[in-house]
Amino acid sequence: MTHRRGGCQCGAVRYELSVERLTAYACHCLECQKQSASAFAISVPVKADDLVVEGPVAAYERSTDSGSRTNCWFCSTCGTRIYHQSARSPQIVTLKGGTLDDPSVLAPIAHLWVSRKQPWLEMPATPDVEMFETQPDDLKAWRDRLIASRST
Ligand SMILES: [Zn+2]
Ligand SMILES: [Zn+2]
Repeated sequence: MTHRRGGCQCGAVRYELSVERLTAYACHCLECQKQSASAFAISVPVKADDLVVEGPVAAYERSTDSGSRTNCWFCSTCGTRIYHQSARSPQIVTLKGGTLDDPSVLAPIAHLWVSRKQPWLEMPATPDVEMFETQPDDLKAWRDRLIASRST
């Protein structure tokens, strides 16, 4: 088991992640552009049990398109978004990839909401990187498969 560490910009929040391999996807939807304050978000779905967070976190709760609620956890000192946790599947959390101490280990295996991407951004022409004009029909099942494929 590999232990990876990460945290917020000010250092008050630190976490440890215990997974063999990380799988990341990029999302270009407008919510993710707003959330990341950038062109896209890098999401790393992991089991909630595999993530141990220490430090002052607070949650902003928002509704999702699918009618669920998501808690968006952030450092209450510097505001860095750390992870998201849906009310519908709280056993899975979506870690924000840029918070890893070594984010270079992340190479997105898929891009979601390419139809909303910023126009200057060129998508990689790699056949094994999946492209979705919007998002997988069943995002929850798709994310669950990503986690399952990682542990084999
Ligand atoms: Zn902080
Ligand atoms: Zn998104």
